[in-house]
Order: sequence, then structure tokens, then C-alpha cells
Amino acid sequence: MRLDSEIRPEFETIVAGAGPAGIMAAIQAAQTGRVLLVDSSSLPRDKSCGGMIHEHARKGLDRIAKVPDELLLDPGHVNFRYWDWDRSIKKTTALRFLNVNRIAFDDWMLSLLPSNVEVVGSTSLVDFSQTPKGVTVSLKSNGSTQEVPCATLIGADGARSAVRRGLGVENVATYVTLQDFVTLDGAIEPFFDCIYMRDIGDDFAYAYVVPKGETAIIGSVFYPKTRRPHLKQDQCIDILRTKLPQLGDSVKREASVALHVRSVADVAPGQGRVLLAGEAGGFMSPTSGEGISYAINSGYCAGQAVATSGPDDRLAEYTRSTSAIAGNIRRKLRWLPIMESRTGKYVAGFVPTPIVSKITEGL
Ligand SMILES: Cc1cc2nc3c(=O)[nH]c(=O)nc-3n(C[C@H](O)[C@H](O)[C@H](O)COP(=O)(O)OP(=O)(O)OC[C@H]3O[C@@H](n4cnc5c(N)ncnc54)[C@H](O)[C@@H]3O)c2cc1C
Repeated sequence: MRLDSEIRPEFETIVAGAGPAGIMAAIQAAQTGRVLLVDSSSLPRDKSCGGMIHEHARKGLDRIAKVPDELLLDPGHVNFRYWDWDRSIKKTTALRFLNVNRIAFDDWMLSLLPSNVEVVGSTSLVDFSQTPKGVTVSLKSNGSTQEVPCATLIGADGARSAVRRGLGVENVATYVTLQDFVTLDGAIEPFFDCIYMRDIGDDFAYAYVVPKGETAIIGSVFYPKTRRPHLKQDQCIDILRTKLPQLGDSVKREASVALHVRSVADVAPGQGRVLLAGEAGGFMSPTSGEGISYAINSGYCAGQAVATSGPDDRLAEYTRSTSAIAGNIRRKLRWLPIMESRTGKYVAGFVPTPIVSKITEGL
């Protein structure tokens, strides 16, 4: 798909970013006028992700469609398990996720868009300006730039949001993430294992291992500004193979970022006629790194604000409707000092499994 002369110049809403936040926002906003949804990637995109769909994401999606069974991998569901590697302590929780391939999931979400949403890939928002009457958005595609006016701009352009920067709001710091897709020389247990080990150093937050049909994902999450993360990921995989010899060769490695939310001030709903949804708005679990439900739910609120309010009232409506999400982030932030400290991680090993399970469900 590309930006070309077929695109008519006027849209009620322009959405930058065709992730779950942008798609959900576009679907809702389309109730009240034409929507242009652009993404700098070619579509369907390939977003680095564990593909773990939380119950809250599923419920958010239920408002428009049920996640089809065809999207589920083998195993279709996995429970979250906390694993203190060095002390060989495993705590299985009742927290259950749908296990999907993220490319297929995002492609399915795109298929839900109604016909009055024009979707254009390989097109980046490079700038915008707003007046009391509306927003003019500069979109770049194939080396040429086009100015497109709209009543409302929704920035759903992820962790390094150009829209957020354009409002003069600093982007949130980001974790460095690495994911390897490895072959499996034998089955591994059907869990979403979240693994804490001490040997990788203090800039290592945690690793995760999830079976994905014929392959498994091995992910590592590092605190912002970690140096040589690729070497640390190699080291982590070597250590994991000592107890999980089924983890075979890496067939693909991805490097990405995810929000490192540290304050409720990181949440920024927007300014004037510009709304920020999903990671662009700082909406993500600060404790679990789960972001799809936050993207879906904040995107829904942004699109609903467009559908139910006049252009001048949309930001106020969006701020009101996302206040519960901001409150949820504020509550989760209270756990961070415990979760990130060596002592907290050590003590977790002594906490009875049903209590760990209960706490994890709230993160
Ligand atoms: C390694 C990793 C594993 C993860 N695993 C999970 C998981 O298992 N479960 C879970 O719930 N969450 C997970 N997350 C988090 C989750 O993927 C994100 O929080 C979620 O995708 C955010 O959705 P979004 O719509 O806000 O942004 P994104 O999905 O990041 O989409 C933003 C889109 O904006 C586009 N874009 C960027 N700049 C521009 C621009 N200037 N103009 C136009 N388009 C632009 C990008 O190409 C991108 O497609 C993971 C994240 C990482 C990095």
C-alpha cells in the first residue's frame, strides 16, 4: 500500500500508527467520519512481541470481535510461571494468556477496519501543526511529503512517538528487548516462563521463554542504556540451555524497545486536538511489560472520544475516559521498588505460590 493521488484530502481523523492502539482508535473514530490510518512500516507489519494476549486484552477486543481460534498456536493457552533460576524455584500462577503469532494477530486486527478507514503503509508522519480549527499533518511516502488536514490527530505511533515529541512532551525511557526464535529439539513445558537469574548482571531485568508451535521464543529485557545487550542475550541463552537442552538453534533475532514507565506523569493523553494512545501516551503496565491490553483500551477510548464529542471537547473526554487506566498504572507503580530490588526478587521465592499467583494477577 502507498500514499497516492487516490487519497482524498480531507479526513475527520488521522491516526499515526497501525498497532493495536491505532487500529482500535480508527475503528471507533470511523463512526463519525472518514479516517486515515498510516504506518511507517509496510503492512502487515512485524512487531517484536511475545504474542501473549492477556485476559484484559481479550475482553477489550470482545467489544468488536472474538479472537479467532485459528490465531492460537500450540499450546493455545499458557499460564504465567515465575522461575528463580539460580534457586530452582518455580511458581505457577493462575494468570493465563492466549498464545498467538503477533504478525498474524496484527494482520487480523487490520481486517476488522471498516471501509471508511483508509489504511496506508510505508508512510510516516514527519510533522504536524495545529490551530484552533484543526491539525495539518505532514506525511512522507516514497520520498515525497504531503500535507493532509484533519479535525483530530491520534498519535498511536508507539514507544518512540514522533507525535508525542511534536507536542513537546518527552518520550518515556525504554527497556532494551531482545528476542530469539529458536528451534525445539523436544517439547518444553507449556508455560510462559518469566525467569530471573543473577549471572547476567544488574542491567538485566528478566528473561522469558514461551513455546510457539514448532519454535520457542527466548526473550530478554534489559534496563535502559544497557551496553552490549546482544552479548548478554547470548550469555542468557547459553545458561538457559543448561537446564533446557531442548532449546535449539536461533532462526531469528529481533531487537526492540518497550516503555520503562516510572511515574504516572509518563502518561500523557495529548494536547489541543491531538490525542496520544497506546505506548505513545505512556499506556503500558509498568510492572509486567504487558502492553496490548493498554493499547486496545486506550485506543478504544481515543476513538470513542472522537465518535461522541465535538473536536474541541475530545481531549477532555479522552482524559476523563482514560483516567481509570492511569489509576491502574499508578497502583501498579507501587510494586516496582519491591519487584526491581534484589531483596524483593529473593523474598519472592519464599512467598507461598497462591499469594504469588494472586499478586501476579494484579500486575
Ligand atoms: C520484545 C517485546 C515483547 C512484548 N511482548 C508482549 C506480550 O507478550 N504481550 C503484551 O501484551 N505486550 C507485549 N509487548 C508490548 C506490546 O507489544 C506493545 O505494548 C503494544 O504493541 C503497543 O501497541 P501500540 O499500538 O501502542 O504501539 P505499537 O504496536 O508499537 O505500534 C506503533 C506503530 O506506529 C508505527 N509508527 C512509528 N512511528 C511512526 C510515524 N512517525 N508515522 C507513522 N507510523 C509510525 C510503527 O511502525 C508501529 O507499527 C512486548 C513488547 C516488546 C518490545
